[in-house]
Amino acid sequence: MSLLLPTPEGLYCQEGGFHIDPVRPVARALITHAHADHARAGHGAVLATRQTLDIMAIRYGAGFAGRQQAAAGPVEIGGVRVSFHPAGHVLGSAQIRLERGGTRVVVSGDYTRAPNPACAPFELVPCDIFVTEATFGLPVFRHPDPGAETRRLLASLAQFPERTHLVGAYALGKAQRMIMLLRAEGYDRPIHLHGALERLCAYHAAQGIALGPLAPATLEGGGRGALPGEIVLAPPSAFAAKWAQRFAAPLLCFASGWMQVRARARQRLSDLPLVISDHCDWPALTRTITETGAGEVWVTHGAEDALVHWCRTQGLEARPLRLVGYEDEAEEVGAGEAGGAEDPAANTGAAGAGRDEVPAANTGAEVAGTDEEVAANSGAADRGPDEDVAGRAGAGDDGPDGGIAEDDGPATAPGAPA
Ligand SMILES: [Zn+2]
Ligand SMILES: [Zn+2]
Repeated sequence: MSLLLPTPEGLYCQEGGFHIDPVRPVARALITHAHADHARAGHGAVLATRQTLDIMAIRYGAGFAGRQQAAAGPVEIGGVRVSFHPAGHVLGSAQIRLERGGTRVVVSGDYTRAPNPACAPFELVPCDIFVTEATFGLPVFRHPDPGAETRRLLASLAQFPERTHLVGAYALGKAQRMIMLLRAEGYDRPIHLHGALERLCAYHAAQGIALGPLAPATLEGGGRGALPGEIVLAPPSAFAAKWAQRFAAPLLCFASGWMQVRARARQRLSDLPLVISDHCDWPALTRTITETGAGEVWVTHGAEDALVHWCRTQGLEARPLRLVGYEDEAEEVGAGEAGGAEDPAANTGAAGAGRDEVPAANTGAEVAGTDEEVAANSGAADRGPDEDVAGRAGAGDDGPDGGIAEDDGPATAPGAPA
């Protein structure tokens, strides 16, 4: 019997009686990290790292599960030895290692190999079966140096000192990473935060992540022309809302691995796309698979087919898991940040596009080359408008301030305790 089985709820370990990152409420859940598509409220019991539990409590309220247990060293669950190991993705993120009868399985959740001072670094865990994400699982994806991307932001700030630089970054992970990158480049001014980012930034600071001086971007009176020459971090959905118009000639930046795809940068209204990702690019994915020593690879959420194909060329057994309910980086808005992430309708366009873009034939079209935007983008453009509308429908266009600032509260996820 296999140690893990794909089910509609997510990966299931029958012998241990638990699911990993289930997308629907289950009796017992092991959770890799607190991004909303992996960590949902309403399970009977949750085992996760202390930080993941804390972040879930911040997002969903303290009663987000019937019982909570913080992972601390290996535990036995129904004859399966379970342990958590850092994944380098966001604060608290972990790979989950299972062992039974000499078979070792590692479920990576989301992970990155790039240094990220906002969380513990990825730990390489040798295994027989490696379950990997494939968010950027196409050979065209090569993430640039995040320091160089950050310097582009600072150069723009120097060039346009009269403009507010509004940086779109998701509340968990990307916002804190962006702040740490700016600090690493010597930027020591206060960084202004949209209200939806404040609690998670405060939590990071309390966990010893030195974010430096932070200030609210919330202003009295709602006048225009605020904060010229300053950096304001906000959830990307805030760009489309009235909220963004209060600033001085706002220059919109968006930090995401998807900014390598020009159609997405345009659709995100980004004046200055910053290619900064908390996921592995293609070289890091393939290197990691090799380094784990796994003879068998299961590929989930992302460009599954391309990575499965690569594994087979390396003589590895590989299978796409076709799990549903996990979104790519651009959709990790979180239950609390924009209110739309849990609404399937709001995600359809974007998530669908992410999957449909997999075939190798689209590769050239999807990822804009160095200087040609070409008709190459037509493939993406076909989907662009839908994606645009769908992406924003749940997020920002629903009235003044988009309802973004205030809804970082509990009980926005299905199954969350009232
Ligand atoms: Zn994630
Ligand atoms: Zn994910």
